[in-house]
Amino acid sequence: MTHFLKAEQLADRLREIRQTLPASVKLIAVTKQVPVELMRIAYELGIRDFGESRIQEASTKQAQLRDLADVTWHLIGHLQSNKAAKALELFEWIHSVDNLKLANRLNQLAKTCCRKPNICLQVKLLPDPNKYGWNPTDLLTDLPDLNQCTHLNIVGLMAIPPYGLEPAQTLSVFQQTQQLAEQIRQQNWPNLQMQQLSMGMSDDYLLAIEAGSTMVRLGRTLFGERPSNEQ
Ligand SMILES: *Cc1c(COP(=O)(O)O)cnc(C)c1O
Repeated sequence: MTHFLKAEQLADRLREIRQTLPASVKLIAVTKQVPVELMRIAYELGIRDFGESRIQEASTKQAQLRDLADVTWHLIGHLQSNKAAKALELFEWIHSVDNLKLANRLNQLAKTCCRKPNICLQVKLLPDPNKYGWNPTDLLTDLPDLNQCTHLNIVGLMAIPPYGLEPAQTLSVFQQTQQLAEQIRQQNWPNLQMQQLSMGMSDDYLLAIEAGSTMVRLGRTLFGERPSNEQ
């Protein structure tokens, strides 16, 4: 049994969501566990950005959707170093670069690979044992090294607030992420751009937009509930 929406419902849902998104905000359709048939329908409805969490699942789906040539694939889940090469092959965007060692590894690999990946640095503005990412202090410490990663296109920050916050607290996390990006921007690192904020999921994307998000990553509100809770 699937919990996902039917094609007609997807069209309605997408129309509703688009009405709430400013033109400047990119909609990334998070398709983990979503069958490729439904992804094709999303494509027909104009979706061109797909977000996946797992290398293997993305690899299988990309093979099945090879004919959709103008799709941009975004990796949004934690990336293990040993899968970094595969990730560069599959994804133009990696939103979930969450430590310096991984950034250095990707930079090494990208030197010899075809395209320069777009990278967001994942941050945690509140401590959260369930999430990866830099805390602000450690990120500021690592900026000189990140600035040396000249084979990466580091374009901004990504954040996921801890689960279960009040809306005001969630908004505050997003605003602090925006402020951190601004602080980094003011340091004028030549290789660190900070124009992108990848913030906002189904339950909190309107708050994220209020705080200046430029990319929202929407799964359930677009496609319906996933069959399993697993990332
Ligand atoms: C699953 C996931 C999303 C989408 O979450 P929904 O609640 O389904 O909108 C967004 N970002 C990341 C990093 C995810 O793992």
